[in-house]
Amino acid sequence: MKVVVGGGSGFVGRELTRLLKSKGHEVTVVSRQPGPGKITWSELESSGLPACDGAVNLAGENLMNPLRWWNESYKKDLFSSRIDTTKALSSAIAAASSPPRSWVLVSGVACYQPSLTQQYTEDSPWTPFDLLSRLVQEWEAAAQLPESLVQTTRQVVIRPGAVLGRDGGAIKQMWLPFWLGVGGTLGSGRQPFPWIHVADLAGMIAHFLESPPEAPPTSSSPSPQVYNGVAPALNTNHDFTKEFGRVLRRPTLFPVPAFVMNATLGAERAVVMTQGQKVIPKRTLEAGYQYQYPDLSSALKEIVG
Ligand code: NDP
Repeated sequence: MKVVVGGGSGFVGRELTRLLKSKGHEVTVVSRQPGPGKITWSELESSGLPACDGAVNLAGENLMNPLRWWNESYKKDLFSSRIDTTKALSSAIAAASSPPRSWVLVSGVACYQPSLTQQYTEDSPWTPFDLLSRLVQEWEAAAQLPESLVQTTRQVVIRPGAVLGRDGGAIKQMWLPFWLGVGGTLGSGRQPFPWIHVADLAGMIAHFLESPPEAPPTSSSPSPQVYNGVAPALNTNHDFTKEFGRVLRRPTLFPVPAFVMNATLGAERAVVMTQGQKVIPKRTLEAGYQYQYPDLSSALKEIVG
């Protein structure tokens, strides 16, 4: 199978590329930089989608970029880097003479309103309530293919929680303070912490690229097909903090109050750490995806090694 992966040079993309190649598939990355095995976004626009069986978008300015101050220009980049690249791929798919069998967008769980009690499945209704939920709405809308392609191209949206792996995401940023023994809970620590191991997110994308197309969409199985990309275990920030400290064999005695997170990160993005949602991967499990790391202990043990 040939797969085109927007943002395939990043944390999740590298894991996905390794996995797809190990299964004998061919990967072309779409990137801002030219290079071997890559095309640029402008080449995609001018020459169209390379012949492929599947397309994925993982591109996006890092929400936790430690080098950028939270301001209007950063927020604009968060939106445009996701929406423009997604639109570029969905338009290229729509214009292709032989469109791919599947088109997978990886968005996020920020569409679900943080709550200590409410549980969300893919069927839970939601409307945007803050900046990040608006981002998810516009991002997923940009992925929408024209009606004429509904029977040809299976459109999938995966909404991951925090992606855990050694080479990127939250763990890469938390590793040093935790290793130095100055890690601790964030905010109250009681907030839900939806998460997925990066190998499972890559595995899930590969699963949907490889699995045979389902019956044409109906009202009970609409297009796009949305899957929550989270582990089935429901954990809190406190669970994560204690387990990460335990596998690293370090104390976790230094909580970071929410107001400090808000002041340093900006309240609009600190929300992804100081608040959270109980997200259930109902359709993901129904689709037969088998997790390699369904619980925090096995995931963090693999990461810490
Ligand atoms: P990365 O931060 O590793 O970025 C992925 C790629 O996006 C980069 O390699 C880069 O590719 C491209 N990119 C970065 N900034 C820009 C920009 N300003 N304009 C265009 N392209 C840009 O992302 P992850 O692999 O961690 O995540 C993949 C997707 O999953 C992202 O969309 C992210 O929002 C989403 N997600 C990730 C989570 C996580 O915990 N990591 C949690 C929930 C969702 P290049 O330099 O080659 O152009």
